[in-house]
Amino acid sequence: MRVDVVTIFPEVFDQVLSSSMLGIARGKGLLEFCAHDLRDWAIPGVHRQVDDAPYGGGPGMVMRPEPFRAAVRAVSALDAREPVVVLMTPQGVPLTQRLVERLATSERMLLLCGRYEGVDERVRGLADIEVSIGDYVLSGGELPAMVLIDAVARLLPGVLGGEDSTAEESFSWGLLEYPHYTRPASFEGEDVPEVLLSGDHARIRRWRREQAIRRTARSRPDLLLGADLTLDERAIADDERSRATSRDKEGL
Ligand code: SAM
Repeated sequence: MRVDVVTIFPEVFDQVLSSSMLGIARGKGLLEFCAHDLRDWAIPGVHRQVDDAPYGGGPGMVMRPEPFRAAVRAVSALDAREPVVVLMTPQGVPLTQRLVERLATSERMLLLCGRYEGVDERVRGLADIEVSIGDYVLSGGELPAMVLIDAVARLLPGVLGGEDSTAEESFSWGLLEYPHYTRPASFEGEDVPEVLLSGDHARIRRWRREQAIRRTARSRPDLLLGADLTLDERAIADDERSRATSRDKEGL
């Protein structure tokens, strides 16, 4: 996959995109990445201006549409693959694992990062999709773009060691993931559950599934609405939720 980013801070991507899994993915040629400085398409003049005061008044500056339009045209033309153009904005659709999976099937993405008060409304027309990483406002689209790139890149075939490592993760079953343990078997009075030491893989699978349901019922009951559960599993979820309700009542 090829990923291009248009930003006024291209340098902030260097370290994150060169480290760990992303660095390895790039080294193997599974991920091509290029950050472009929006100011290369700035309004002509000494200040390399890309923003202006809002019509109608109000605080802050708004990013002008012309640099973004020119950047999208020029960057798109750098490769024969048509990019999915993504505008990072708190007003976009929430970034979920399902959306990440969809984006991971594309051959190319072009991410647009805003700053200041955000982008002129006409920039939105350049994007195929607007994406938010959560219901909070950051000062720029660079961190959201990195979050998106990381989440997508780890799903690209060959990037992680075993494809199984993403198949059972949180959200891929519509549930949070089960608890993990490693050595030591006993740590400061806390023991690894006996089932995990049993070598009985069918039992381990059942235990993990139940733990995933209980954990989701406790922390993210909203996810259970869309999860594919058997009647017995629904009963486990209900049991966990009623325990959580009594804990709440007892103020724990
Ligand atoms: N005034 C805008 C609003 O209320 O929607 C927020 C602008 S924000 C300060 C500046 C830029 O940060 C946005 O244009 C966007 O690119 C990025 N940004 C901030 N929060 C984000 C989020 N939760 N998800 C994705 N991008 C975000």
